[in-house]
Amino acid sequence: MIVMKFGGTSLGDADRINSATNIIKSKTDQKPVVVVSAVAKITDLLIKLINECAMGGGSNILKGIQQRHLEILKQLNIDQSLLDNDFEELSKAARRVNNESRINDKLLDYFQSFGERMSSKIVAALLNKKDINAQALNSYDIGFLTNSNFGEAEPLQSVYTNIKNNLKRTKVVPVITGFIGKTENGEITTLGRGGSDYTAAIIGASIDADEIQIWTDVDGIKSSDPKIVKNARTLGKVSFAEASELAYFGAKVLHPKTILPAMNKNIFVKVLNSFNPKNSGTTILKDSYRNKQVIKAIVCKKNITLINIESTRMLGTYGFLATIFDIFNKNGKSVDVVSTSEVSVSLTIDNDENIEDILSELKEIANVQLLKNRAIVCVVGEGMKNTPGIASRTFGSLAKGKINIEMISLGASKINITFIVDGKEVEKAVNILHDEFYG
Ligand code: ADP
Ligand code: ASP
Ligand code: MG
Repeated sequence: MIVMKFGGTSLGDADRINSATNIIKSKTDQKPVVVVSAVAKITDLLIKLINECAMGGGSNILKGIQQRHLEILKQLNIDQSLLDNDFEELSKAARRVNNESRINDKLLDYFQSFGERMSSKIVAALLNKKDINAQALNSYDIGFLTNSNFGEAEPLQSVYTNIKNNLKRTKVVPVITGFIGKTENGEITTLGRGGSDYTAAIIGASIDADEIQIWTDVDGIKSSDPKIVKNARTLGKVSFAEASELAYFGAKVLHPKTILPAMNKNIFVKVLNSFNPKNSGTTILKDSYRNKQVIKAIVCKKNITLINIESTRMLGTYGFLATIFDIFNKNGKSVDVVSTSEVSVSLTIDNDENIEDILSELKEIANVQLLKNRAIVCVVGEGMKNTPGIASRTFGSLAKGKINIEMISLGASKINITFIVDGKEVEKAVNILHDEFYG
């Protein structure tokens, strides 16, 4: 069995959906289990819908969402009433918000779930029209249960056996909703934006798939974000460790949690282009790939806040670091990059909502400086473990380009160098490094 996940970019309109189903059809001998995202941009629209409803509006957006799906059904010659129940339920939900005007993460997840619930039905219907016996399934109806951390829910351990038992004897091609799940109390959750990749990996691990395929709109994982570096190259092979670092530090092409379930079961993950299905894409696998290319990718994450915490008390006072992390932990804020010296700690967070409490607690024990609009840049490659001089090439080339580095962290995995620059300089920094290692 293989898992084939199609992202929103691969399901943008009737033509794209048609191509996606042709790709699925070409793989039926490998027993595909299909995972889908919402039609492109629909999740954004559903979030906009709930926000506008809360302010007494939203009817145009609701109409727009329905029309977009109806247009697709019409062009694909699928029964126009296929999604009537979903439209009805969504309209009802929108009216309810109008009256309540209280939005919370639970309601937000419920609204977002409609995207995948509708796209899975369209893809299954089109496969059936092409004589492939397919069935749309809501992930939670085959046991995809999560905790109740709405907006960023984690699957429960039972998911793996539930999915395995439910799919083991399937005679059809299941078309499963990515991104969403349900709590044990029956409330809909989401895994966080871009989470369908994670769904695909969990399903792949559950059924011991031969391969997990992530079908998207680029030829594979690239040496940099192609929107920043014009001549970014497609990487043929990357290791699980490299893929996890580069997804974590900004390569949007893969959700950062995708790798772990695949790695635990040693299942290949392939990133493939639904616009160019003949291309062999990127294969993510266990062993580090030995080739001349020591540095595989230069990735970045924008809109980061850097917090510098400085205290003389740190000298000789053990427990200072623990106290600092405890403050972040207690307030549910996760820290991305950390660097410490004897008297200071610098760390980054990727959103600074509700940090007033954290700041006031920190200020009781230290001097605190907050720097907004920063960016993390991460240089990734297994080869740097055994190659001297990578750090000096990295920082030397940036110095020549007059890029100021605000903090440096060498990853514990020893396959990345991570540092912080001013957000205004990030694109220049990434291009300088791409030229340095790929020029
Ligand atoms: P999907 O809808 O298929 O999930 P995404 O938009 O989530 O697609 O991810 C694909 C996009 O990720 C690409 O169009 C590309 O712009 C962006 N991207 C960012 N960094 C990288 C990278 N290093 N390699 C490939 N794509 C990248
Ligand atoms: N539809 C969701 C999103 O836009 C999940 C995904 O595409 O993976 O974030
Ligand atoms: Mg995605």
